[in-house]
Amino acid sequence: MPDLAQTLLSLQNALAACIPGGRPPALLAVSKTQSAERVAECAALGQRAFGENYVQEAIAKITALANLDLVWHLIGPLQSNKCKTVAEHFDWVQTVDREKIVPLLAQYRPASKAPLNVLIQVNIDEEPGKSGCSPDAAARLADLIDSFPRLRLRGLMAIPDPAHSADGVAFERMQALFRTLQQRHPQMDTLSMGMSDDYPVAIRHGATLVRVGSALFGPRPSHSEDT
Ligand SMILES: *Cc1c(COP(=O)(O)O)cnc(C)c1O
Repeated sequence: MPDLAQTLLSLQNALAACIPGGRPPALLAVSKTQSAERVAECAALGQRAFGENYVQEAIAKITALANLDLVWHLIGPLQSNKCKTVAEHFDWVQTVDREKIVPLLAQYRPASKAPLNVLIQVNIDEEPGKSGCSPDAAARLADLIDSFPRLRLRGLMAIPDPAHSADGVAFERMQALFRTLQQRHPQMDTLSMGMSDDYPVAIRHGATLVRVGSALFGPRPSHSEDT
């Protein structure tokens, strides 16, 4: 396996090369199933933001690495019975896709912390059974999030069907939706889309944050936990 320092550097260069002269997107290092040691190794290279999918696994790492002052994003599905734990420990939740969890996140966000940063996950391909609100539901959800001072609406997130993402159509639709919602919510500054296999296309369509796991850490160890 090439070493992490080398891989991180070439990934940063690759991100910057997607829009020559433009501002490169932020990198979220997706550390699900990676050990706390591996995260610490990456943090020592200057990477601050990490994305986790499974709540219990994440809490263990957040706790173990509390002294490193990292920024933690939840990018996996959020069940309502996990809202309290998530609101207490994470800095960002990228997967808000229904109204029910919004007041729970606000209620449980500790007063001692900054407001919780929130992205609305959009099921941009409108695939049945998939996480994310429909594109039509995003405006109402944005208004609801914006009404809670303990939450800070930062933007949108999507995981387009890989079969459709290559041509950029899904990313283009996300960019259009983002711009529309920004008119009403000018504080929206984050469009989270693009993963190891499709980040160049996502960046060309306005991604401001890409979520990269395997292209950074290598193939993922498998995961066993029922979150
Ligand atoms: C696992 C995951 C990623 C990273 O996927 P890679 O293909 O390993 O880069 C990005 N976003 C979400 C929501 C994920 O679950």
